[in-house]
Parts: sequence; C-alpha cells; structure tokens
Amino acid sequence: MQRILQFFLPCLLCAAGATGAAEPQKPNILLFYADDLGYGELGCYGFQEVPTPHIDSIAANGIRFTGGYVSAPLCSPSRAGLMTGRYQQRFGHENNPAWLPDSTVAGLPLSQTTLPQAMKTAGYVTGCVGKWHLGAHPQFHPNRRGFDEYFGLLGGGHIYLPGAAGGVEYNIPMNRNGQDEPLTEYLTDVLGREASAFVKRHAGEPWFLYLAFNAPHTPLQVTDKQLDRVKHISDETRRNYGGLVVGLDDAVGEVLTTLGESGQEANTLVWFFSDNGGPVSVSHSDNTPLRGAKGNVFEGGIRVPFLVSWPGRLPAGATVDAPAMNIDLFPTVLRLAGLELPDDRIVDGRDLWGVMSGEQPAPPHEALLFFDDKVIDGARSGQWKYYRYVDRYYWPVPLDKPNSLAGRRLEGYTYKDERTGRELRLYADHPMLYDVALDPGEAYNLAARQPEVSARMLGYIERWEQDWIKNPRGWK
Ligand code: CA
Repeated sequence: MQRILQFFLPCLLCAAGATGAAEPQKPNILLFYADDLGYGELGCYGFQEVPTPHIDSIAANGIRFTGGYVSAPLCSPSRAGLMTGRYQQRFGHENNPAWLPDSTVAGLPLSQTTLPQAMKTAGYVTGCVGKWHLGAHPQFHPNRRGFDEYFGLLGGGHIYLPGAAGGVEYNIPMNRNGQDEPLTEYLTDVLGREASAFVKRHAGEPWFLYLAFNAPHTPLQVTDKQLDRVKHISDETRRNYGGLVVGLDDAVGEVLTTLGESGQEANTLVWFFSDNGGPVSVSHSDNTPLRGAKGNVFEGGIRVPFLVSWPGRLPAGATVDAPAMNIDLFPTVLRLAGLELPDDRIVDGRDLWGVMSGEQPAPPHEALLFFDDKVIDGARSGQWKYYRYVDRYYWPVPLDKPNSLAGRRLEGYTYKDERTGRELRLYADHPMLYDVALDPGEAYNLAARQPEVSARMLGYIERWEQDWIKNPRGWK
C-alpha cells in the first residue's frame, strides 16, 4: 500500500478546483462490463432484433464510440487491461488463467496497481459486483486488489439458474467479501439488485462501482420472462442468447433507475463496454458488420459496444469515431478523480476526456496494438487496420506466468470465417491491410496497393515490439 500511495498523489493542476472556481464534487464512476456481447446486438448501434432500451439510453444521454476496442479478444486479459490501463502483455496476461485456487501465479500479478486501488487514494469507496476472473487464489480476491466491497462469481463464468448443471467454477457458490453464499435466484437479476443496493448505500460519497456481468456468456440459461421478448427469433441458440441480452438490459435498467431515484445521475459518469466480441459459432451472437469473433483480433473479436454518459457534462446523443480502448478508462477516470498517473510504469491508455467532451477532438492514440494468443498481430491507426502473421512467438524474456505466450510455438493457424464457412490459411494471405472505415467487414486486402501505409502500420507493431524487448515489464 505504501508504494501505491506514493504514486497516486493528488493532481492539483488537473483538478477543476485549481482554476479558482468552487471545487466540483468528484463524479461517481459506474462501469458496466458485459461478457461476450457482440458489436451487432444493441439498438443504439442500429440493430433491433433484441430489445435493449436501457443500454440504449446510455447512448441517448451520452456518447457512442464506433471505434471502441478492448485490449484482448478474451475475458480475463481484457479485464487485466481494463483494471491496469496497460497492455496485458506487459505482465504476461495474454490468456485466460485456469481456475486454480492454489496457484499464486494464475491471476492478475500483484505487481500491477489496479484502478480501484488508485481510486481509494482519492477517497472513493470501491465496489465490484459480478465476474472477477483475475485469479482464484485468495491473494487475487477483489477485496485484496482494491475493492472495499465484493459480491459475485470469482471464476470465468457461472450458471444462471440455481441448481442448474455447470463445470467446476460455474457451480461454486457466490462470494461476498470472501464468504460463500448460495445462489437462490436468477444470477443476472441478483447482480443488478446487488449493484443497485451499492449505489443507494453510498449516495453522498464518491464511489466507483464495477458491475461485471457474466451475461450474455454461456451457458444459455434464460427465464420465460426473458424469452417472451425474443420469441420472434427462430434460431433456438440465438433466441436463448437474445434472452441473456434482455436480462442484461433489465439489470442495467434497474441500476440506472436507482441512480436517478437517488438523485445521483448528474454526478455519475456511466461507462458501458463488452469485454470482447461475440462468440458467433458458440452462441450465434452477432458482430455485424464486422469480420471475426471472440478469440481473434479481427474487428469482430475486439471492436465492441462502447458507451459513456455524464448528463450536463458530456454531449448527449453524440458519436465519436476516433479509435479508443478499454485501457483508456484508467487515465480518464484517474484525472477526473484528481489523481496523477503512476510515474513508475508505462500506462498505455490515454485520457479520453478531450474526444468525449469535444474540447480536444484529435485522436488520443497514434495507433492501437493487438496481440492475440495465437499468431496474428494487429494495429489500428486512423481508418487503417493491419495484420501481420508471425510463424512463432519469440517473446524473449521468460515471464512468470503459466498462461503467457512466452516460448509458445505454433506451426500454423487457420481461421474459419463464420459467415462464409471459408477457411483462411492466414500465412498465405499476409500482410493484410483494410480500410475499416469503408470496409468494416475487412473483405478487401489493400496491402499490395498501399505499400506505404502497410509499412507505416508494420512500423507501429515492430516499434512496440522492440520497446517491449528492451523493457518487457514497462517499468520506468
Ligand atoms: Ca468474454
């Protein structure tokens, strides 16, 4: 804790109070994180098949990013990026950790300072409700990683219906601040209620709430009440997935209603993201119009619904096209809390306030980088998306993580296009360059026609890699 306090001194210059005006109250931060919700699912992104009025209301009252990304196409690494503001390759967290309650390495490394740890130094009360998935050992428990209060599922997923069948971590009891509690009602409803109680309980003091749903991740367990609103969907798997999305939207609505009824709407910054793209083949989720799915770094795996609102402080009904990433939440929120960034480590995220408020519309990132757990590296800059195939990973420094890419060798990688069923041998089709503003489905490879753009994009990847080789942990 000493170390954390040392690096989160109040930022006197960036607090609005430094101008001499009355110091505004720090905003509450309400962060919704959905699980496996595809880009093509929400009404506010133009898709009407599944009704999502409550999530859509965040877009209507705020900002919709059309180029909002996550730092990984998988659950746990995406959360590792979110919680640290850093590319998770810096601490060997590129893959999901197995459920290993005895392992002190299968989780978010303790060397990494988390967002709630920082927020606590600014006087925030911090709460996490829902899916953790950043380690099963007690040392990784949310209460040990910055959250004053925790209720939820500690693993990577869970049954929704009490008594339903499920794998090991899907069937463990709920956890409340380290104590087991049985699941007695439909899980998504319970998470919405617990989050609402937190919002009500802490009215009057600055709070940070991370509500990490496991919906609409499998298992596809839904109630009749949810199914009734998606009964027009003929495909049974997709209908059940749609039911999970409806349940998610209901729970978001309950929390937003509580926020309004407790008079905190005007002082709360609300974020809504998905942790990765939809797993099309598993749950028949929809990433339209994007190519790819959960598990790869094509647009459908990493470009996600990405919303933010703060009534009275941010524009309503606005759209931002500048590429942004979940890791940007860390520096954006820290500044609003009056904190400086830690000065002992590289933070890869960028403050989004300028593009959100319209005060500084220049893109916050020159380039975003994507390194999946397979053999494709990607970069996005402006309208361009570039991919490089690498025939093996050669990260040269042994990392202390069993779920790291270090030393992994893969002889080839075949990607199956979910829409056409066509198998692509990626090494036969590289490099790849797409204008994702004009061609979000990434159908037309322009690498040969745009050699200068390709070289610049490759340069972003190679530069990051060279820097990483020199200083893999990103300490300053
Ligand atoms: Ca996920």
